[in-house]
Amino acid sequence: MNVQNSIGKLKIEKRAYINGKYVNAIGGEVIEKISPIDGTDLSGIVSCKKEDINLAVKAAKEAFESGVWSRSTHTYRKEVLLCLASLMEEKREILALLDTYETGRAYKNYYEDSIPKAIEALRYFAESIDKYYDMAVPADNTEFGIIKKVPLGVVGLIIPWNDPMVVAAWKYGPALAMGNSVVLKPAEQSSLSAIYLAGLTKEAGIPDGVFNVVPGYGEIAGKELALHKDVRGIFFTGSSEVGKKIMTYAGKSNMKKVGLECGGKGPYIITDSCSNIKESAKVLADNMFYNQGQICSAPSKVIVAERKYDEFLNALKVECERYVPGDPFDDCNNVGCVVSREQYNKVKGYIDEGFKSGAEIYQAKNVKKHHKNACCIQPTIISCIDEKNRLVTEEIFGPVVVVLKAKDTYDAVRIANDSNYGLAGAVWTDDLNEAFYVANSVETGLFHINSYGNDDNRAPFGGVKESGLGKDKSIYAFDEYSDLKSIWVHIRR
Ligand code: ADP
Repeated sequence: MNVQNSIGKLKIEKRAYINGKYVNAIGGEVIEKISPIDGTDLSGIVSCKKEDINLAVKAAKEAFESGVWSRSTHTYRKEVLLCLASLMEEKREILALLDTYETGRAYKNYYEDSIPKAIEALRYFAESIDKYYDMAVPADNTEFGIIKKVPLGVVGLIIPWNDPMVVAAWKYGPALAMGNSVVLKPAEQSSLSAIYLAGLTKEAGIPDGVFNVVPGYGEIAGKELALHKDVRGIFFTGSSEVGKKIMTYAGKSNMKKVGLECGGKGPYIITDSCSNIKESAKVLADNMFYNQGQICSAPSKVIVAERKYDEFLNALKVECERYVPGDPFDDCNNVGCVVSREQYNKVKGYIDEGFKSGAEIYQAKNVKKHHKNACCIQPTIISCIDEKNRLVTEEIFGPVVVVLKAKDTYDAVRIANDSNYGLAGAVWTDDLNEAFYVANSVETGLFHINSYGNDDNRAPFGGVKESGLGKDKSIYAFDEYSDLKSIWVHIRR
């Protein structure tokens, strides 16, 4: 079935959401862009600037200081957030449609996977908040301490376009559960679902000013939010390049707390002792070519033991045919377009460079081009390439995987760690000792043994090195959106 017609029936809200109301940007400007699906004009979402950010932060600060949310009970916040999750479930189709329309990722993917994951994450944080304990320093005769988590105040969330609702939920879920007020800046490529979500927060009972959405360009709206002196924490997912800028904005303004989830070049190691080559190739394709490879934790740097190399490469060529892109609105398709013409040109540029470098390049044979202007890229496997080539060292953020050979397991670990990134990785092996040697040696925030991408909300997600700092997901996410406060008590008798 093609669900494209449903989008025409929706009244699409394109304004910012500040202090409980949808409003135009004061300057009256809009974001300009074209659809990656068919090249039609998608301009019109408001483009917030400094004065709009100031209004949103002011509203958030006043709401925080009023205590209406920040000093409410955990049970109350839990109930409201669970209500929001239920509303998202009711409106799952709309959220999936809006994200598809703007980003070109497959509707099926949003509807069946991404939106449910966002709802599940929100429920996880809502359910956890009233089961979470602070700590006490045990009393001796005269002294006793309480160590409690306190919300930061106003937090700014800067969200990427590759999985808009999931990444947003990973951040506003724990931020709101802790009692903070939120100002969320969606990516200019994917703002509609966040704007729609704002209306649902009102319906769920989140008080005015506690949740605000300020669409706009990163260099303008995002930068102003990160520089704002009344913002006490800024939490970002996106490129390492912008992540570094966010750190400087925090330093230049008020030393606000910073959380960064940035790029990656996930090493995926197949050792000599791996007997399950077919399965390892299948899981790689599932995690690499899904969403046209636009996933920061994608296992895009494969390192295979010499003896298994040909077998693995052949298996991967078969598996990549399952991820050929097509019409994103056709709910039979698993894969749609890349997010924009710019992203398309960038990824194509890397592939062309690969051809020129003399590397071996295999692209999926099956083709399903649905429109002459569609920004779709065939799954691409690059082998016989130098370890130092920038296709191996840089994050391509497209359906492009490089496959390298390793002499032995030590060599595989060396190649894996020869990277500026450290987000996620994996090893496939039948040898438990080897599995733990590799898992302990590869420098990433998350590591899989004989699997990939199947970790649930209980596992923290975030990188080391230039993949960022701080963690999304899990109970540890509450640490990000709070400060520790010690209250020391002197007991007289
Ligand atoms: P990508 O390269 O994947 O588009 P970016 O890092 O550019 O990722 O963008 C991720 C998010 O950061 C988006 O919401 C974007 O608008 C925002 N952003 C981009 N540049 C800046 C900036 N200089 N300051 C703050 N936010 C920014």
